[in-house]
Amino acid sequence: MIIDGKKIAQEILLYLKDEVQKLDTKPTIAVIIVGQNPSSKIYVNLKQKKAIELGMNSIVIEMQKDTTQKELEDKIDELNQNPEINAILVQLPLPKHLDTYKIIEKIDPIKDVDGFHPQNVGRLSIGLEPYSTSCTPKGVIRLLDAYNIDIESKNIVIIGRSNIVGKPLASMLLARNATVTVAHSKTLNIRAITQRADIVIAAVGSAHLIDSDWIKDKAVVIDVGISKSPEGKLLGDVDFESVKDKASYITPVPGGVGPMTIAMLLENTLHLYNLQKEQK
Ligand code: NAD
Repeated sequence: MIIDGKKIAQEILLYLKDEVQKLDTKPTIAVIIVGQNPSSKIYVNLKQKKAIELGMNSIVIEMQKDTTQKELEDKIDELNQNPEINAILVQLPLPKHLDTYKIIEKIDPIKDVDGFHPQNVGRLSIGLEPYSTSCTPKGVIRLLDAYNIDIESKNIVIIGRSNIVGKPLASMLLARNATVTVAHSKTLNIRAITQRADIVIAAVGSAHLIDSDWIKDKAVVIDVGISKSPEGKLLGDVDFESVKDKASYITPVPGGVGPMTIAMLLENTLHLYNLQKEQK
């Protein structure tokens, strides 16, 4: 069965739109983009478009590619202090001369819409409620839940250990009582590990790395990876055609995890807005 991330994301967005309409003020997300990375610009424009469709405010702050660490930190401070801003997102990757971790740490954790701040990551990893959690892993779990795919006691293999996908996803799945294995670029014989998995989640960025040999019969296969073919076509980490008849559930690329990420971002924005309101 093909997991329709586009449809699930659309349902979530409609729900959020209804919720936003009930509010007396608009939740506001501020997105900072440094430099002119074309993919980053596309992502930022999409986030802004969706936020506005939901009735939220979206502010995009474009900074020059030679922005200094201090200038960027000052900008974040200004947004932290501004009570009208509920959510702050710094579009990554940042130009190399900037210290990404210091920048993320500068964001007030209650405005950290990506869930990347060490306080939010730390709370997630020790099983305490964070203000927000990373959008892509959160979207993966929501897809599994939407299709009533059991997580508890399942043998789940995540391929990829990044701070934005693999690691927070491992924490979230552990919190749901899965048995989690995280494989990565230095893992030996990954295929032998994935062949035992009930659920395989690929977050590598290597086109069609995974074919049906990697997957046991009736496994669930979630493809987070996005690469571009020379013709500009979006490709996942999973060779969809090879795996689709062997898997019980599989996400396509595009139309699987991608749309969920943005839905989770806007859900996080509304959540932070509500938390800040409670604190007033
Ligand atoms: P990353 O580059 O930070 O991490 C990639 C991970 O893959 C690393 O942990 C690395 O150890 C591992 N890896 C690399 N080569 C490997 C190999 N041959 N075998 C096993 N593991 C290997 O990337 P990321 O930010 O975690 O993103 C991963 C992929 O997911 C990318 O394609 C990215 O574009 C995509 N992504 C998609 C969404 C979405 O919304 N669909 C969101 C975030 C990231």
